[in-house]
Amino acid sequence: MSSVCAAYLVNQHRAARTDEPDVSLMSKDSARPSAALPASAPAVGPAIAAAAPGASEAVAAPAFTVKNAPVEHSFAAAAQSMGVDAATTAILAQAFHGELNFARDLRAGDRVSAVFDKGNTGGAPSAPLAVRIARGTVTHDVFLYKTLQGKPFYYSKDGASTTPAFERYPLSFTRVSSNFALRRLDPVTHRWQSHDGVDLAAPIGTPIHATARGVVRFIGQKTGYGKVVIIQNPAPYSTTFAHLSRFEKGLRRGSKVSRDQVIGYVGETGWATGPHLHYEVHVHHAPQDPLKVQFPQATRLGANELQQFTARAEELTALL
Ligand SMILES: [Zn+2]
Repeated sequence: MSSVCAAYLVNQHRAARTDEPDVSLMSKDSARPSAALPASAPAVGPAIAAAAPGASEAVAAPAFTVKNAPVEHSFAAAAQSMGVDAATTAILAQAFHGELNFARDLRAGDRVSAVFDKGNTGGAPSAPLAVRIARGTVTHDVFLYKTLQGKPFYYSKDGASTTPAFERYPLSFTRVSSNFALRRLDPVTHRWQSHDGVDLAAPIGTPIHATARGVVRFIGQKTGYGKVVIIQNPAPYSTTFAHLSRFEKGLRRGSKVSRDQVIGYVGETGWATGPHLHYEVHVHHAPQDPLKVQFPQATRLGANELQQFTARAEELTALL
């Protein structure tokens, strides 16, 4: 069943706003390890990993230890069985997040392998130098770039940060129930209408997360939208989440949110004929198709760092 969506009906009443707080893409808390370092910093982290004692291991080269674990219950369980600590496991899960949805894509029989540095010279004690998830013949690799204040950063082999500023989807949905549409003549009502977002069908109560960091600009009821959250993301982006059943507790206007933070739950409040999230992405106050809009590129290493990083990544790939 196709859902009727509030945005068909209310978008003509909305005026562009100009009072958004400025959220810069380049503020100091964004995940840009290279921005916080001098250009002359070494490209690849020093030997920082130690193999967990007692774990089964295959010695691949004098300086490295390679470990493998099957995915039985979760990526986290596999990583931790290799001696990766919980904090680093969470960072790794995040690093793979742009490519893989663990809940959807990983299954028993997939394997995780990791290269550790044998010489533990400090830093994050169990951060692997390289990690591969193998799903049949398909592999996904990330490589340690360096550690900063004890926190490891992982990049893909081409030197692009694995932490994107924006995620494409704010929830795990079952289907796109209505697409973005520019102003058009509705064949049924014979009125000019547009659909300023995309409708993502999902069961009531499905958690919805912010797709990029930002500040809550509006949280409450709006005609048609029902319960709605509007987030001002790094300029020039803002995102709107409508028809929610409820908001995340404690969230209010002015709250800071991080990418992936839960902000509310799928519902059918407002003018919605079935449970779905109506999701809008605005760029310079103009709605864009959330499924196609260009997001800021993931942070890339500089030319000098990139050369060293990719050489090291090649070396490590051979061990995985
Ligand atoms: Zn909609």
